[in-house]
Amino acid sequence: MANKPDLLDMTLEELEQVFVSMNEKPYRAKQLFKWLHKGTADFEQMTDLPQALKEKLKSGYKIGRLILLQRLASSDKRTVKYLYLLTDNNIIECVSMQYEYGMTLCLSTQVGCRMGCSFCASTTGGLARNLTAGEMLAQVLAVNSDLSEHNKPNINGLVLMGCGEPLDNYDNVVKFIKLVHDPLGLNIGYRNITLSTCGLVPKMYTLADEGLNINLAVSLHAPNDNIRRDIMKIAHAFGIEDVIKAARYYFDKTGRRVTFEYALISGINDRPEHAKELCRLLSGFPCHVNVIPLNEVKHLSRKRSSEDSIKAFIDILQSKGINVTRRREMGLDINGACGQLKAAYLEKERG
Ligand code: SAH
Repeated sequence: MANKPDLLDMTLEELEQVFVSMNEKPYRAKQLFKWLHKGTADFEQMTDLPQALKEKLKSGYKIGRLILLQRLASSDKRTVKYLYLLTDNNIIECVSMQYEYGMTLCLSTQVGCRMGCSFCASTTGGLARNLTAGEMLAQVLAVNSDLSEHNKPNINGLVLMGCGEPLDNYDNVVKFIKLVHDPLGLNIGYRNITLSTCGLVPKMYTLADEGLNINLAVSLHAPNDNIRRDIMKIAHAFGIEDVIKAARYYFDKTGRRVTFEYALISGINDRPEHAKELCRLLSGFPCHVNVIPLNEVKHLSRKRSSEDSIKAFIDILQSKGINVTRRREMGLDINGACGQLKAAYLEKERG
């Protein structure tokens, strides 16, 4: 059987069903779940499971694994970028970032992306396919195992900001978040998980009602619809006011502060009048703005703003009382921006 179901993709309840269908005791599901989420990919190492049961599992199921293609550490070793091969030969990337308060993983939710933002490397080849919850979990487990080998702490925070649009793969993403939150497994707190969306308005409402209370980041990148439509295809489907309204609903419903991401692109969205317009747009909303100096992507024409424009932009926001930070640029020396490592790898492979 080439395509066996992936045990990593299953919730505890689903694993219990597997055991019931095999006439085994459902409590075995907890034992298996713990092994899987510890990163054990070999049934033989699951010492508390009877041999006959392991044989049954082996014949009917697989434990999804990622093959490491490339590992690139930044010069200070705090940022590590990983390129992994999936079983169907697709390639995904993720990045671990070590902060004072812990280790965060930026992971991918899709192979490619169909959102078509004009400055983003992940979207270049369009969407290949969605990742399963198990494949997202496999990224965390594979990175954890690499981190232990390098005597680093395990992942305790997640940002869904790698390749892909998480809300375009809604069910798998929500399932993944519940899996990593499970106390029997990785037990990652919802407050340590941030999902970033380009603004799929209806799904933002669904997420708010989901009861997960994770942090929400919204890629705004413009103070009005005209500019937003110029750089983000999705802005033709959803107006900026509706995006803000949905973000506000998310805040009201979950109590979690929303972050607006704003990548400064030279001559497009980085002038003082844009900063002032952004302040008007967000006035009365207790939110946070994360200003990102654009990471220039080789084959895309968008250019990074000058240092002076970046500073002036941030100053205006601050002067109007907006809570603003500048994104720390970790791992610039290792192709930090989404999709860039994969692009560089494929270019090299093709010669
Ligand atoms: N699809 C989601 C998450 C993916 S990217 C989203 O759009 O939010 C995570 C963040 O990086 C987004 O804010 C995205 O717009 C931004 N980003 C993408 N390419 C970038 C680049 N070249 N420079 C700076 N930020 C970039």
